[in-house]
Amino acid sequence: MEQYQGKTIFNKIAIGKVFFYQKKETQVKRRHIEDAEAEIVRFDAAQKTALAQLDQIYEKALQEVGADNAAVFAVHKMMMEDEDYLDSIYNMIRRELINAEYAVAATGDNFAKMFAQMDDAYMQARAADVRDISERLVAVLSGSGTIAGTLAGSQTGSAAGTETVAGTGIVTEINAAPDIGSRTGTDTLAPDEPVILMADDLAPSETVQMDKSRILAFVTRRGSSNSHTAILARSMNIPAVIGIDIREEWAGKTAIVDGYTGTVIIDPDAATLEQMSAKMSDDERRQQLLKELRGKETITRSGRKIHLYANIGSVSDVAQVLENDGEGIGLFRSEFLYLESDTFPTEEEQFKAYKMVAQNMAGKKVIVRTLDIGADKQADYFHLEKEDNPAMGYRAIRICLDQQEIFRTQLRALLRASAFGNISIMFPMIISVQEVLESKRILEEVKAELREQDIPYKDVEIGIMIETPAAVWISEELAKEVDFFSIGTNDLTQYTLAIDRQNPKLDSIYDPHHPAVLRSIRMVIENGHRGGAWVGICGELGADTSLTETFVEMGIDELSVSPSFILPVREAVRKLS
Ligand code: PEP
Ligand code: MG
Repeated sequence: MEQYQGKTIFNKIAIGKVFFYQKKETQVKRRHIEDAEAEIVRFDAAQKTALAQLDQIYEKALQEVGADNAAVFAVHKMMMEDEDYLDSIYNMIRRELINAEYAVAATGDNFAKMFAQMDDAYMQARAADVRDISERLVAVLSGSGTIAGTLAGSQTGSAAGTETVAGTGIVTEINAAPDIGSRTGTDTLAPDEPVILMADDLAPSETVQMDKSRILAFVTRRGSSNSHTAILARSMNIPAVIGIDIREEWAGKTAIVDGYTGTVIIDPDAATLEQMSAKMSDDERRQQLLKELRGKETITRSGRKIHLYANIGSVSDVAQVLENDGEGIGLFRSEFLYLESDTFPTEEEQFKAYKMVAQNMAGKKVIVRTLDIGADKQADYFHLEKEDNPAMGYRAIRICLDQQEIFRTQLRALLRASAFGNISIMFPMIISVQEVLESKRILEEVKAELREQDIPYKDVEIGIMIETPAAVWISEELAKEVDFFSIGTNDLTQYTLAIDRQNPKLDSIYDPHHPAVLRSIRMVIENGHRGGAWVGICGELGADTSLTETFVEMGIDELSVSPSFILPVREAVRKLS
């Protein structure tokens, strides 16, 4: 038995087998071969298998996400049969006497670079596709399943991308580092067995594509507790620990992840296993007790009502909101729709997602935050340039006001969906009154367009995230322009303290309880009310029950938390006098 101490992300316990997540980047070794023709026969067989896989995926996608989304797999098939692409692979094998995996990876890289340099945006976007098909071929050739192939689910109800083989970046390296045991992991696991997933690090786009029902816990070497991956783990209700020096030889072994203490135990002895199973049962009992608060009001003993909403990242999260009796949705991070997809989600796709959330919430408030892409939330097809300071860079509302077509498509989808429920729209990363006015102006234009086309919509409440010190300081002016504020304490802490929320080295001083942050919250609530706006908190701090009393005393109107925190926060509010 070995025990390791990391940092906890989500308080829950899991016991299960370890599976190593193979990073998106498949490292392919260059090998010298003797018989080029035999290697070509091997490649041809792999191509046949990969084409058959694409046929299957196409069919599945057609049924689940419709013809538009499925079309990408037809394109993948065409690319995989493209003459130039195949010639390049054959030539490399014959001329350089190298293994097929390397020839595919190198060809994939070359073609992807070539596409990326083209002027036409459509062709540029093909770079990701060519990487994708190359990675699929490499996976077939090397006989290895990747996580996206084995753990990606159709559960998220996302666009066709969920079934793709992981990633777009094939790295061709001669002395590449060994694969960290994903095969060992898969070999010892039943195909559908839920697993404790271990990885060096996880990107939000990777996390979001995984089939939640197959993951018992996340354990990573890197990552910070304020990253979006951590937030996702919380909203997925999955125990998670970061900062563990994961080891290859753990693959397939039994492990315990104690999200209460941040401990990971490998190969537990019988006594520990028994003790932790008991702790897990206690935990489940407490969850059961909390369930008794379902259907009760979120109200203090003296009668102050707090609106207790939930944060979600995808349509499938709504189930958890309902299960935990969320009174509404205070933050739908719409960018996850974009991260789940390989191309810009169309107006129709977005409309369907927002409509489904609005309908499932049956008239309860659903606050959708417009696209907050950038910083740690990256999607290849946006082609965002690498920046020195991405957190302070080209992101969120800045992209939307700059690339207005993206913004208008989303606003059209949102307004159309508003006819089916109680949707509000919220703009992220606001720093000026000007940005709010401009966003509202565009929204009005989109409304006019819909009226002209006789497309129904409802008047929606408009709100903004208060997550920059600038917004705090001008909150009184901002309040006059909107119906509500939602304080994003994750970014507000980052920008107030000048601490990158992604930097694990700074985790210990990233302190949302810092007086500067708490005073900002107080100021925003007071200014919001003075200007006529109601004020909520949707950052992670909203779920911190040690501060519930403080927030209520400050006059907060709403708290929006991960679904699993709804009942604990309700319990905390109901205890207040
Ligand atoms: C925040 O910054 O507090 C917030 C809720 O937004 P996100 O975590 O998605 O940046
Ligand atoms: Mg934020």
